[in-house]
Amino acid sequence: MTKTAAKAKAQPRIRTKPKAAPKRRAKTPARAKGAVRKSKPGNPLLTKWTTPFGLPPFGRIEPEHFRPAFAAAFKAHKAEVAAIAGQTSRPTFANTIAAMEKTGLLLERVCAVFFNLSGTDTNEELQEIEREIAPQLAAHINAIVLNAKLFRRVDDLYERRDRLNLSDEQCRVLELHRLSLVRAGAKLGRKGKKRVCEISERLASLATKFSQNVLKDEQSWRLVLEGERDLAGLPEAVRGAAARAASDMDPSGGLAGKHVITLSRSSVEPFLLFSARRDLREQAFTAWIKRGEMGGKTDNRAITAEIVALRAEMAALLGYSSFADYSLDNSMAKTPAAVRDLLTAVWPAAVKRAGAERDALQRRVRAEGGNFEIAAWDWRYYAEKERKALYDVDEAATRPYFTLENVIAAAFDTASRLFGLRFKELRDVPRYHPDVRVWEVTDKRGGHVGLFLGDYFARPSKRSGAWMSGFRDQSRVAGDVRPIIVNVMNFAQGGEGEPTLLSLDDARTLFHEFGHGLHGLLSDVTYPSISGTSVTRDFVELPSQLFEHWLMVPEVLQRFAVHYRTGKPMPQTLLGRIKKARNFNQGFATVEYAASALVDLDLHAQEDARGIDVAAFERKTLDDAGMPREIVMRHRIPHFLHIVGGYAAGYYSYLWSEVMDADAFAAFEEAGDAFDASTARRLKKYIYSGGNTRDPLKAYVAFRGRPPEISGVLKKRGLVG
Ligand SMILES: [Zn+2]
Repeated sequence: MTKTAAKAKAQPRIRTKPKAAPKRRAKTPARAKGAVRKSKPGNPLLTKWTTPFGLPPFGRIEPEHFRPAFAAAFKAHKAEVAAIAGQTSRPTFANTIAAMEKTGLLLERVCAVFFNLSGTDTNEELQEIEREIAPQLAAHINAIVLNAKLFRRVDDLYERRDRLNLSDEQCRVLELHRLSLVRAGAKLGRKGKKRVCEISERLASLATKFSQNVLKDEQSWRLVLEGERDLAGLPEAVRGAAARAASDMDPSGGLAGKHVITLSRSSVEPFLLFSARRDLREQAFTAWIKRGEMGGKTDNRAITAEIVALRAEMAALLGYSSFADYSLDNSMAKTPAAVRDLLTAVWPAAVKRAGAERDALQRRVRAEGGNFEIAAWDWRYYAEKERKALYDVDEAATRPYFTLENVIAAAFDTASRLFGLRFKELRDVPRYHPDVRVWEVTDKRGGHVGLFLGDYFARPSKRSGAWMSGFRDQSRVAGDVRPIIVNVMNFAQGGEGEPTLLSLDDARTLFHEFGHGLHGLLSDVTYPSISGTSVTRDFVELPSQLFEHWLMVPEVLQRFAVHYRTGKPMPQTLLGRIKKARNFNQGFATVEYAASALVDLDLHAQEDARGIDVAAFERKTLDDAGMPREIVMRHRIPHFLHIVGGYAAGYYSYLWSEVMDADAFAAFEEAGDAFDASTARRLKKYIYSGGNTRDPLKAYVAFRGRPPEISGVLKKRGLVG
């Protein structure tokens, strides 16, 4: 996933965080609690930084510096925008668009430091500031995008764009500026603007309520396991986590010696995978899929209905026939029809494969003497047994081959061979935590490219998950600004004197986030609003998912996946088993995912969404699609956090990017070399360096010579052949 601090440009993009429910920033303007306080002299956020490479002077920044810095940054940005909007001279690209691109530098700097720290090394004080600042930031950005004078200037330029002698990049930046203002409601009259503001405020509070309800349902339900009979089948690690859950839940000791399963994915999924107790699996699974639908105060059905209706109303106000049309207009897919085409192309093959998988699981049930039809709560359990029997892949056997040092070296080496980058670790530069490592990135000739920060280990002050972010984006509009990119992971650090060993999944995550990192580092654009990862939601995962492919390239494994004690490369037999196991259960996984994507699309494609019954809607959509009886969609509507966050009508994006990454890597396979120089050159130019300078489809076609073909992803998931 990628995460950048809120953009302070006129194109406020709330960066999405794939693979985790994205947080939606509240749109409700709220009064600042601390109001504008005069900053003390010497606030390091407000002074010039003389640090190496212009890194933030982390050692001098204290939480108390943020409130006055934000206040000063809002004020400065507001004045800069007012000066541009209030000009009497005729709009030019330079005095309006380029000028806007140079505004908000202070706010960006403060946001970058603040949001990176609040994600990686937070504390009570920073959390309180975050709750306070988020609505202020939203209100600040709203005031800019709904500034009528500013819009008139941008719109005037847009109307004359063909006569302005603009470069392609300038033209694109102008179009994107106008688009973001229009999408925010700039073309509406006073009444329309007011209604759009009302709707977005209401949506923000409904979304908050929705998420909190899901969390409450997850926290309030528990399955208490009493003794060995209830624990049947659970491995040590799952038992340990369940025991910890019991003591966390009841510190007074009422649950002492017991084990508790909760409805959070990390608790219930392993239970469903290993519990030999069919009755308990049924109880847990049934509760899990009813989150947000349990009746009472935490029921999300009415809330969802209101959210969907408000979105449809907003889309209509803005001139779109549905919210899906509105949302997708600013994506690579462009239309609901294109998304539907993708999903319906994958669906039949996935259902067919899932049917074969079910038959195999059913045979296993019979062979074990079971006399029942496979149900949804049986699938994971029997699939896990099947996986072990067929592939015999034990995670403990692969870990010794993936030391963190070697996986980092493999990622750097791949970037070097593909894009000519060099990495040199710097010891004496400021960092925000002692675990953070810093590398200077240079090109083949030694020219400075940027800085890369790696923050790999889990700690209590860090949010869970993995992401890429930045302290500074590349641009050239106000001098040659070089990027400072950070990758954040949550690996468990090796014991004293022992190397950190990664699972294959961890290693893949490192490559994934490093792919996002390269998208930021290699950025080669003039204007900051289109720099690096500032691309559409359904394009941003291409550079990251694509980079994952190189981890499994034989010559990379041969060189870097070596046993940390013996130095010997991974045995071919183990490698073969890992590769084969990759496609296991992909019918199930694809059906589970695609069903949610389909329901998300249909839900938001309604022109009039007033008064819908979301449960009936979900049932009908799935019935029409022919959903297999034994599989439940990955996220049912009442707890589908993605679609109340930034992924409404956008859950398809993961698969969309996957179509491209599979198809893009095939270009190297077709060239017969995973490091083919001319393919790599095109990849760098059009994908990794291009930011948002081109329409994403055009960028892809420029790289590949044709649009992406779906056959690659079907092959990758093992759904054909
Ligand atoms: Zn990602």
